Amino acid sequence: MKLARGSVLLVASHNPGKVREIDDLLAPYGIETKGAAELGLDEPEETANTFAENALLKARAAADASGLIALADDSGLAVTALGGAPGIYSARWAGPNKDFSIAMTRVERELRAKQTKDASAKFVCVLALAEPKGDAQIFEGEVQGTLTFPPRGNKGFGYDPIFVADGMTQTFGEIDPARKHAMSHRARAFAKFVDALGLARQ
Ligand code: IMP
Repeated sequence: MKLARGSVLLVASHNPGKVREIDDLLAPYGIETKGAAELGLDEPEETANTFAENALLKARAAADASGLIALADDSGLAVTALGGAPGIYSARWAGPNKDFSIAMTRVERELRAKQTKDASAKFVCVLALAEPKGDAQIFEGEVQGTLTFPPRGNKGFGYDPIFVADGMTQTFGEIDPARKHAMSHRARAFAKFVDALGLARQ
């Protein structure tokens, strides 16, 4: 698959935090992005059981509906002591109002119930790139870390305020977004995507 400089890539997400991050990550390569909400596309139901299948389902639906090459991101937090939960249910734990204070409180409560000292977790990101009615590819990235409570910082989104990446002391909610973008699960999946497509910085 080829993405020429100046081409428009549809970001198959209705999550403004994600669309902004992907836009930031792609800007240096001269790729213009459009969000699915901006084009009035429906948000497909995430019916699959893995990050990869959900990402593919979202990318294919958006590419077919728009006629544009589409990039979807399925990502989430996997907590070791919770057997990988919330995992693909990360967004759903925040409830219909997408209130992540509810989701973070649930993680804390379930972790306490386990009576474990293991607060390790990872963020996982799978990117799927799909051509309208054509090929699709996936790229995966992870970042390992530890959970901390209460939540700290408001610079990120989702579970960022409770996640401290290995080697750091501040949460993803406290650090500068540029630092997060340099080493996040999404950045790592992105690096693979950029490599595979042979994109060059401007
Ligand atoms: P989905 O991929 O749209 O199903 O949603 C993934 C969910 O995982 C997001 O809504 C966030 O709650 C969480 N998540 C994914 N990436 C991040 C991140 O970089 N920081 C914080 N939370 C994240």
